[in-house]
Amino acid sequence: MKVLLPTTLAEACAMRAEAAGGATPVAGGTDVLVHWPERLELRDRTFLDLWRVGELRATRWDDGWLELGALTTYWDVERDPGIAAAFPLLVDAARQVGAVQIQSRGTWAGNIANASPAADGVPALMALDAVVVLASTKGRREVALDRFYFDYKVLDLRPDELIAAIRIPRREHALQRFLKVGSRRAQAIAKVGLALARSEHGWRVVAASVAPTVRRCRTIESQLDAGERPESPEDLLPAIRADVSPIDDLRSTAAYREAVMARHFSASSSTDSSCPQATLKVSPTA
Ligand SMILES: Cc1cc2nc3c(=O)[nH]c(=O)nc-3n(C[C@H](O)[C@H](O)[C@H](O)COP(=O)(O)OP(=O)(O)OC[C@H]3O[C@@H](n4cnc5c(N)ncnc54)[C@H](O)[C@@H]3O)c2cc1C
Repeated sequence: MKVLLPTTLAEACAMRAEAAGGATPVAGGTDVLVHWPERLELRDRTFLDLWRVGELRATRWDDGWLELGALTTYWDVERDPGIAAAFPLLVDAARQVGAVQIQSRGTWAGNIANASPAADGVPALMALDAVVVLASTKGRREVALDRFYFDYKVLDLRPDELIAAIRIPRREHALQRFLKVGSRRAQAIAKVGLALARSEHGWRVVAASVAPTVRRCRTIESQLDAGERPESPEDLLPAIRADVSPIDDLRSTAAYREAVMARHFSASSSTDSSCPQATLKVSPTA
């Protein structure tokens, strides 16, 4: 096993480009180590440990954006009063990730690159129209997070690229809301994850654990933008089925997942916009 230890982003990009057979980036390592191979011969790989790259730690505000460096952890966000004031959705999502040990080590960029359909950080960022900043020796490019996933674990991330930062547009939000339904309150993988945001750009409704990737629910967004209000949660089922494809698996059933989504959207669509940040409690059963 070989571990490369860059201290600048330029050095990290050069090492990523040069590593024959590829170098696996490591940020907090909380996903990489979960997938650590049991067989010794499979450990003969090259890892690119980003933890010493100081410029990836910075959190910056400018007129239009909040920029989270790729090493920003959940804990960094939780303890930042400016982020809590502008983006409570991020803080709510961060608090639901694993437990304190994972929150202090796990990064938002690692959550994006790991591409789990059940991720908690990705839906919150996607609901805020976050943009992924990618860097390589050839330069930088930006991709909207809601276009970053093509299919299950298939991402718009080239083998020589690293996530350098995540940019979030600063907007006035009438509502930001995060919901995670799991089998218990902590250390649980979501049966259903939902992030909602409403700004002058309209509704953003993002669902996790109900499709091969975290995804925006554009049919539901259009209905909410048009002011359509369901008479009952069941009225939303056709739109939910158009947007996502929940499955029966070891964590839950498709029917339960649809019911949770319908109930939550129904409650959200009747929420007055002057009443932000309410959290709907849904019993974590089924
Ligand atoms: C006990 C436990 C509980 C957990 N609970 C939750 C939970 O509740 N919710 C949740 O969403 N996740 C959870 N996770 C998963 C994990 O903690 C998160 O996905 C975390 O955000 C990963 O970040 P990391 O920095 O540790 O990533 P790493 O493990 O370092 O990397 C993850 C992936 O991203 C790649 N990567 C990392 N940084 C970059 C970069 N800058 N550019 C390109 N690729 C990169 C790596 O190569 C790897 O493929 C849990 C994990 C554990 C072990």
